[in-house]
Amino acid sequence: MASGGGNNRNGTHRNSLKGTTTTSTASTDKPLSVNSNPSKPAFKNKSSPLTGASSGLRKSSPGSLGGGAAKDDAGVPGRVRVAVRLRPRNAEESVADADFADCVELQPELKRLKLRKNNWDTDTYEFDEVLTEFASQKRVYEVVAKPVVEGVLDGYNGTIMAYGQTGTGKTYTLGRLGEEDTANRGIMVRAMEDILAEVSPEIDYVLVSYLQLYMESLQDLLDPTNDNISIVEEPKSGDVSLPGATLVEIRDQQSFLELLRLGEAHRHAANTKLNTESSRSHALLMVHVKRTVKGREAAHSSDNGNSTSMARSLRPPLVRKGKLVVVDLAGSERIDKSGSDGHTREEAKSINLSLSALGKCINALAENSAHVPVRDSKLTRLLRDSFGGTARTSLVITVGPSPRHRGETASTIMFGQRAMKVENMLKLKEEFDYKSLARRLDIQLDKLIMEHERKQKAFEVEIERITAEAQNRISEAERNYADAVEKERLKYQKDYMESIKKLEEKWMMNQQNQGDERKMVHIAEEVAEVKKLLSKETSLRKAAEEEVDNLKSQLAQLKMSEASANSEILKLRKMVEDEVCQKEKLEGEISMLQSQLLHLSFEADETRKRLDRGGPGKVPGGLDSPVSQVRSQLKDSGNGEKASVAKLFEQVGLQKILSLLEAEDADVRIHAVKVVANLAAEETNQQKIVEAGGLKSLLMLLGSSEDETIHRVAAGAIANLAMNEKNQELIMSQGGISLLSTTASHAKDPQTLRMVAGAIANLCGNDKLQTKLRGEGGIKALLEIVKCGHPDVLAQVARGIANFAKCESRASTQGSKTGRSLLIEDGALPWIVQNANSDASPIRRHTELALCHLAQHEVNAKDMISEGALWELVRISQDCPREDIRTLAHRTLASSPDFIAGLKRLRIDY
Ligand code: ADP
Ligand code: MG
Repeated sequence: MASGGGNNRNGTHRNSLKGTTTTSTASTDKPLSVNSNPSKPAFKNKSSPLTGASSGLRKSSPGSLGGGAAKDDAGVPGRVRVAVRLRPRNAEESVADADFADCVELQPELKRLKLRKNNWDTDTYEFDEVLTEFASQKRVYEVVAKPVVEGVLDGYNGTIMAYGQTGTGKTYTLGRLGEEDTANRGIMVRAMEDILAEVSPEIDYVLVSYLQLYMESLQDLLDPTNDNISIVEEPKSGDVSLPGATLVEIRDQQSFLELLRLGEAHRHAANTKLNTESSRSHALLMVHVKRTVKGREAAHSSDNGNSTSMARSLRPPLVRKGKLVVVDLAGSERIDKSGSDGHTREEAKSINLSLSALGKCINALAENSAHVPVRDSKLTRLLRDSFGGTARTSLVITVGPSPRHRGETASTIMFGQRAMKVENMLKLKEEFDYKSLARRLDIQLDKLIMEHERKQKAFEVEIERITAEAQNRISEAERNYADAVEKERLKYQKDYMESIKKLEEKWMMNQQNQGDERKMVHIAEEVAEVKKLLSKETSLRKAAEEEVDNLKSQLAQLKMSEASANSEILKLRKMVEDEVCQKEKLEGEISMLQSQLLHLSFEADETRKRLDRGGPGKVPGGLDSPVSQVRSQLKDSGNGEKASVAKLFEQVGLQKILSLLEAEDADVRIHAVKVVANLAAEETNQQKIVEAGGLKSLLMLLGSSEDETIHRVAAGAIANLAMNEKNQELIMSQGGISLLSTTASHAKDPQTLRMVAGAIANLCGNDKLQTKLRGEGGIKALLEIVKCGHPDVLAQVARGIANFAKCESRASTQGSKTGRSLLIEDGALPWIVQNANSDASPIRRHTELALCHLAQHEVNAKDMISEGALWELVRISQDCPREDIRTLAHRTLASSPDFIAGLKRLRIDY
């Protein structure tokens, strides 16, 4: 319930007919001023009379989809809708009231209810919907609850509430489970059926809590031990939450019915223990629905033809969160205050408290009163969004027909009439789901890694298989060759032995038959035969040699095929290497995505904050040093972002982030340099960044990039790193001064000059680097920068000069420096004198300090007197708000002979 003067309401209320109510039966025939109410046609809807603003609301939804969550702040007006339901006569009434007419008469087609005052007089009232004793549960649901449930599914909060005397059918309307006959199902059961049919179980969720409010104590009906739940209101959004209440996720209708049964059993047990009835307590069912908006990506990419797939996958899903509250109120009849009900007076007061507070709030809202007493009871605190808030609210008031309860019936009707005047401002609850985007990117990364590993494994197996096959073939060929050679060798050996044996036998025989001429002839024959045998042997041997050659050529062929197998292996190896390259590229892309995601969430967060602060026109102002600005930006982005920077740091690795500084795509380079600058603002990261070569890359960017944003952010990061002595030496040795002064000479944005001057100012504070810094033109660069005239820039220059003068003074005191100040040598004195009395206090403070340091050393005195510094020193010694500087100036003037002479000459009485 919105408190105060009703800024959400436009003051055009629908008037009840009570104002024009006729007081006699006769005058009811006069036409009632049904159309006197201008807002009525706008709310009227053919299919469901209680949908009211829903048609307007639906039209506004697509607009808000395209424009994002932040633009939908205005809301849509939506009046509280009220239906009246009449219970049929029950058995007791049929007997007891048999001779009497009902005290109410309904005219559903005119949406009117007539309340009999006496035999000749009735009052007439008009409602958004009039439900007779014959109205089915299905019709009641469709008319009262369905539009509210649809709103919840679209991301709006919704309330359905029943009000009326005990026994008139509140629980019948809201809470019936319809186990014996499904036609009897009440609003809770039907609402959950509609919700479950619309949500997708994989990406959406439905969470339910069920509570009872009795005597201002809130009890958990799903966990009876939890009987004192506290209500937490978020001051900014006005959202109400119950952190102590049990939340059960509902995935199907059956588990919801079991939950309702369990809640009912606990309610019964609790009421028995407290010795009361459920009619004395309020029951609240809360259903939280989160849905991911579908089709949004498709709509966007067709809007913008050149959006890349990378940008698409970076877009976080949009979620809508609606909360449905169903309230079965305690009976509206007054409790006997005498205590005859078994209660003391105090208890009776406490029991009545929430309901009467609700009545008071509705009266205040209906009358547009300046104060709405929302905080008077727990019920009104719980329902602050339902009346005068951002929820769509539907109220059903239940009445009985009996003339004996005319008084209670009349007061119920009046409650309904006043509630009809309450105007809500419906608001879409929509936000980006960054967590699920990050989860999606993680899953994508895991998939790519798995795919790569799978391919690599397959290649390795293939290589092993080919190698083994080649090895097998080679050893088989070698075996065959050895077998064949061995076989041939054995065959020859055998043949040879046999031939020798035969020759020996023949020779023996020849010996024996020597001298026998007859036998000579025979021998000649024998010899011829032997010759024949020999030639046969020779040809056999030739054949064997051919066989050997053949085998040799086969072996050579096998060797060749082995070589080709080897080249195949080499090719596969190359493919594996290509895969590895591809994987590295993908990883680079992923880290870039993550850096962009980080940047996007920074920007989203900043935009949100800027909106919170009151619009984009505001610029964060006047910080003393760029370091503190970067720091504060990082601080602003909150712990969540810090954690995500650290997480990104871990996941992506510094090396990869730094490598993105040299990316081809200018946008990526800008994102990367911003991420590095954010990291460099944290002292803990600085060492790591320098060790990984980040400082070198940042300096290189100053030289190589043309983009001023890069120059500004890189110079800011260098200024941060330049706070450390070791890094100062590194920056100097890598040509930092000349890079920074070139950057300054091209800069158009004073913020760039401020970062550059800040970096040089830090370097000026290093005792060891004085001569080198001056030699490379550091002081001249600062004097060039002052031409821009911006006070923030001048403050940094003054800080640098003061740092330099302080180090120089220290060196002169220690004797390691002689001669005039290098600042005077480089012509800085006129500027210092000119700004020593600047209106901007940081500039004045630093220049005053610089003058005091310079004045410490007699060698500088003549120049200082001739440049007019003496006047300034006198002024400082008298007016400077800092006592130490005042004293220093005074002491210096009093002790330097040159200054004393100068004062005398100028006739300054000191
Ligand atoms: P309440 O919750 O307002 O105290 P109940 O819902 O418990 O009232 O209803 C009281 C009795 O009236 C119950 O027995 C219920 O079944 C009956 N009843 C209520 N409304 C109707 C109706 N529209 N049709 C039939 N019976 C009804
Ligand atoms: Mg009841």
